[in-house]
Amino acid sequence: MIPVSQAESIILDLVQPLNDIETVPLDEAVGRILAQSVTSQLDFPYWDNSAMDGYAVRFEDVANCTAENPTSLDIIEEIPAGIQPLKSLQSGQASRIFTGAMLPKGADTIVIQENTEKKDNKVLFLSPPNSPQAFVRKQGEFYQAGNTLLSPGIVINAPEIAVLATAQCPKVTVYRRPRVGIFSTGDELVTPSQPLQPGQIVDSNQYALAAFVKNQGGIPIQLGIVPDDINLLREKMIEAIKGFDVVLSTGGVSVGDYDYVEQLLTELGGTIQIRSVAVKPGKPLTVAKFSNGCVYFGIPGNPVSALVSCWRFVQPALKKLSGLSGNWQPNFIKAKSGHILRSGGKRETYLWGQLQFVDEGFQFELAGGSHSSGNLINLAGTNALAILPIGTTIIEPGNQVSVMLAGV
Ligand code: AMP
Ligand code: MG
Repeated sequence: MIPVSQAESIILDLVQPLNDIETVPLDEAVGRILAQSVTSQLDFPYWDNSAMDGYAVRFEDVANCTAENPTSLDIIEEIPAGIQPLKSLQSGQASRIFTGAMLPKGADTIVIQENTEKKDNKVLFLSPPNSPQAFVRKQGEFYQAGNTLLSPGIVINAPEIAVLATAQCPKVTVYRRPRVGIFSTGDELVTPSQPLQPGQIVDSNQYALAAFVKNQGGIPIQLGIVPDDINLLREKMIEAIKGFDVVLSTGGVSVGDYDYVEQLLTELGGTIQIRSVAVKPGKPLTVAKFSNGCVYFGIPGNPVSALVSCWRFVQPALKKLSGLSGNWQPNFIKAKSGHILRSGGKRETYLWGQLQFVDEGFQFELAGGSHSSGNLINLAGTNALAILPIGTTIIEPGNQVSVMLAGV
């Protein structure tokens, strides 16, 4: 049995980022990992433009105006957004301008329309702008052409989509998504649509793990249920190891008579890297690597153990594989415990619940009901796991606890 942190670093060492790239249209790029740095040949803003509706002027012309002694300038042009100004501003002249419109040559300042009064084709300025360049968005103020706009390894979300659109990238180069084969093992399992006979159990793991993989940006492929038959299991494992970057199988990794996964992993040429982890739930986690690069996670069958194993151990592997730069660990924060938390103290223990933001900061609310690894019912609606390290048997209400964000 190895500690959780050691298991995590072994797993991260096993995995190398998939270097395959593909090109996707911008509107399909959300959630993908950018594979190439993005630059633009355009400054941003593209040109000097007005931040307000008002008048483009020369600062010196209006610097001394007051309400009692307004400055009058001739309006020479009207410049709506999207139209290129035709006239150059001379002293004594102003151009009517609107938000986002290009500044005319000769102008250096915008006076907001609230500080003016229009009289036919003249405009009176009643109070001076604060400074030259007032309300002017300067060309290149936010970004200069040729610099890096976005770096590879980032997740593309709404803000990055906005930047890519602005940089006129209708297509985006991203890393291909990890392909993850998922199957369940067990004679007792039936699909959600099969009628349940006495003694049988509905296979929830295959669906839960597929949802998890999808939420991590991978492509889940469900390979079905395999009975506890060593020959059928061998066949399925060969197919999965050959076809996927990562394989997740659940069940069959304990010490029972029908638990064949570890034996087969060795027989099929895998090098077993992890046999069991000092974690609760999820102790019999088995991890092997194959020469074709495939990483095989033999995950315990209990539904909560299965998901906790995914959140704690598979998640970092998928993050690293996916090309994401930086930290591949799950996200941890400190919170105040709203309840008494208990552990046997011998294994790092994960208790599920809800992380909430209350007045003083984050608070962890333990899920009500049983914290048995077979109870998947009260896992629904949770978003976090409180962690009791080895040696800690109790955390009193109001005390601090480490919490891992989970639940997806
Ligand atoms: P195992 O790890 O195969 O010993 O299974 C441990 C427990 O988890 C047993 O009670 C199984 O019935 C249950 N279990 C195994 N696989 C699944 C599954 N795919 N979906 C739901 N429960 C499962
Ligand atoms: Mg089983």
